[in-house]
Amino acid sequence: MRLVVVGAAGRMGQMLIRAVRETSSCALVGAVERDGSPALGQDAGVIGGGSPVGVTVTADPLEVFAKADGVLDFTAPDATVAFAALAAQARIVHVIGTTGLSDEHFAKLEAAARHARIVQSGNMSLGVNLLAGLVRQAAATLGDDFDIEIVEMHHRMKVDAPSGTALLLGEAAAEGRRLSLRDHSIRTRDGHTGPRPTGHIGFASLRGGSVVGDHTVIFAGGGERLELTHRAEDRSLFARGAIKAAQWAFPQKPGYYTMADVLGLADRASS
Ligand code: NAD
Repeated sequence: MRLVVVGAAGRMGQMLIRAVRETSSCALVGAVERDGSPALGQDAGVIGGGSPVGVTVTADPLEVFAKADGVLDFTAPDATVAFAALAAQARIVHVIGTTGLSDEHFAKLEAAARHARIVQSGNMSLGVNLLAGLVRQAAATLGDDFDIEIVEMHHRMKVDAPSGTALLLGEAAAEGRRLSLRDHSIRTRDGHTGPRPTGHIGFASLRGGSVVGDHTVIFAGGGERLELTHRAEDRSLFARGAIKAAQWAFPQKPGYYTMADVLGLADRASS
């Protein structure tokens, strides 16, 4: 499969370049960065921390999308929406790992998915997607006398909070409880907050150092507490998941898919 990496010089972009090169059934055919990036004009293999690969980093996505089968996109929300329109136009698979997407961004991606194959997930790892299923099941089983709190920690450079993964886990808990996360979440606490409302899902975000991504979902009842934790130790996990998503989506019909579809967890997760 011929793949393009957008956001090629980013933390995930570099990892994706390496992962595509290490996958024998895939070829790196393009690498895109934003206007003004110091990576423009450089060899993508070198940007990825390896040997030259003969692909020059460009700011022109259209030119490279035209000769590709798929694009791997871990960039920023507005950039991802723009790439979705171009990927749909070029009829190529669009794998989206970008987080911090608003309802408006999601609406535009869903519109693009009428003509394109999009796989979007706040977390591309098997462990987290399996965890989402366990959280959904625990939330449904335990009922709202168990308070749900989601704690995440990431490296100091992360720009959005709560993390996309924390929100993915929050959605899973809300589905288990059959309520809307939007109307039943507590995203911040400061000062005199009063007692905790029953049935809400709380979030706490920690930032520091080089932490790749830790998530714990706590079910706190009267006298007992259940904690489900995932720790990502290496970004290559997400890059390999993104390549798997692209390969899975290649033969699919246009549509909006998630990693639960890719990993075959969608049916089991919703049961
Ligand atoms: P980063 O800031 O290191 O990299 C982002 C890159 O995108 C930068 O190089 C930037 O120049 C580039 N970019 C921005 N706008 C662009 C544009 N219009 N055209 C081309 N390139 C553009 O960030 P990161 O740590 O690599 O994370 C990127 C995104 O991926 C974040 O939203 C992060 O939360 C998310 N992420 C998701 C997962 C997952 O599994 N879904 C895992 C890790 C990170």
